[in-house]
Amino acid sequence: NRQIILKSRPVGRPTGDNFELKEIEVPTPAEGEILVKSLYISVDPYMRGRMSDAKSYVEPFKVGEPINGGAVAEVVESRHAGFSKGDVVVGRPLAWQELQVVPAETVNKIDKNAAPLSYYLGILGMTGMTAYFGLLDIGKPQKGETVVVSGAAGAVGTAVGQIAQIQGCRVVGIAGSDEKLRYLKDELHFDEVINYHEEKEMEKAIADACPDGVDVYFDNVGGEISDAVMANINKFARIPICGQISLYNATSVPTGPRIQPIILKKSALMQGFIISNYLDRFPEGITQLTEWVKEGKLKHRETVVKGFEKLPEAFIGLFDGVNTGKLIVETK
Ligand code: NDP
Repeated sequence: NRQIILKSRPVGRPTGDNFELKEIEVPTPAEGEILVKSLYISVDPYMRGRMSDAKSYVEPFKVGEPINGGAVAEVVESRHAGFSKGDVVVGRPLAWQELQVVPAETVNKIDKNAAPLSYYLGILGMTGMTAYFGLLDIGKPQKGETVVVSGAAGAVGTAVGQIAQIQGCRVVGIAGSDEKLRYLKDELHFDEVINYHEEKEMEKAIADACPDGVDVYFDNVGGEISDAVMANINKFARIPICGQISLYNATSVPTGPRIQPIILKKSALMQGFIISNYLDRFPEGITQLTEWVKEGKLKHRETVVKGFEKLPEAFIGLFDGVNTGKLIVETK
């Protein structure tokens, strides 16, 4: 039985040395507990924040203890009446561990036949909910408006773009490789796409891609990309701040242009959010996303890395853009 612990807190970009793979005993469940085997483990950008000890909205990981996050697992042994061997559950969090014991009430049973199991970590899980509530509740896209999304080819971004299309919007995506742009254009039918690594003048590229300006900017990345989008926003624009991945490894306070004058002049609304704000509305989100997935309106891609021991490498890869769609580690 293996687990991966946080060996040291990263300074700047995480490296393999910040993690350690350990062999441990298989634990035995007590009354009310279940023994589960991890099948799919989610690696997410927000975990970088938890590797630091700065105060944030989720507790930092503890040095010397296993990393934890969203995972799909199979029940191997149950000492709780509500669960049987072979049931599949999703846990938030479960430890980065092959076999572990958890109190039964901390996991949710999922229907094995409703959708591929890994979807519960992506489109039917936290990332799908993030796109759905962040865009619709804060972005409030209206038919005919222009929606720009950064991190467009990632888990949240691909869902945001498609949900915006369902609302009848013109969608412009910003991502980091031509292959990703092709996927967004050819398979997801985004109206315009921009490669931020290739584009020298981002502000102009966004202006060209958005002749009517930007009504909604769904921000997954922050930094200079977002500065360039902000220069193109329309009056009454809405800007959901979902993530700031370009700044997660910063070792000093990042600075940039002051955006308050733009927000003032454009009467724009910018709001940050964390998806746990919407926990009580998850059933609504899951029902709607499941329907769109079934109708073929919401496509979903995953980048699957195989091997439990690959978790740290997969996680670090998020900062190099290794993934298109949701990045998941399959334990076998
Ligand atoms: P993604 O699947 O989008 O993976 C991360 C992607 O970010 C990479 O593939 C890469 O794509 C891009 N990226 C990495 N470094 C940079 C950089 N320096 N500048 C610009 N882009 C970069 O992850 P998620 O969809 O899971 O998450 C997207 C964002 O949403 C993250 O910032 C995350 O923290 C946030 N989030 C927020 C939640 C909330 O509750 N507020 C919940 C879930 C996610 P590329 O090749 O295009 O560079």
